[in-house]
Amino acid sequence: MRVGVLALQGDFREHLQAVERLGARGVEVRRPWDLEGVERLIIPGGESTAISLLLRESGLDEELRRLGRAGLPLFGTCAGLILLAREVLGEDRVAPLGLIDITVRRNAYGRQIESFEEDLEVKGLGPTPLRAVFIRAPKIVAFGPRVEVLAYQDGLPVLAREGKVLVSSFHPELTGDLRLHRYFLGL
Ligand code: GLN
Repeated sequence: MRVGVLALQGDFREHLQAVERLGARGVEVRRPWDLEGVERLIIPGGESTAISLLLRESGLDEELRRLGRAGLPLFGTCAGLILLAREVLGEDRVAPLGLIDITVRRNAYGRQIESFEEDLEVKGLGPTPLRAVFIRAPKIVAFGPRVEVLAYQDGLPVLAREGKVLVSSFHPELTGDLRLHRYFLGL
């Protein structure tokens, strides 16, 4: 399986390693034509403002909207979640792709120094908790009726899915636990 990882900015290398450890072929995506033959796409963490600008400059924004609407499975982590959202509150430097019906606020858990880790119970991943790393994470402040929440932290959704679009406000690529990537490859 060819799994694209958006490689414009951010921690795309860790995602490429995760999918390759699962036996898939990781493809760095920087231009619209890199998406050819890609069966799934991961949008990594990083700076959503920078990635948004680069998406527009490369023409990847339109292509991703088109492929997302057509059913390409997408997984956005942290900044990637922000980019897939329907709406980003209080931030006009991000033009979100609008592929999952969530409203988010950037950096809503505080600054870098307030980054934290926590074990989460995740629907569909079995009884072993998933270690989640939150780094200047976005908050999902609202979600639509078709969105299924797969994990909560402190009463707020931090892992959610609508159809074949999966988003996490934390970084599953930083812990070596491949269960969430495997879940995504199975969608
Ligand atoms: N704070 C970043 C943003 O708003 C996201 C942080 C991350 O991806 N670790 O884009």
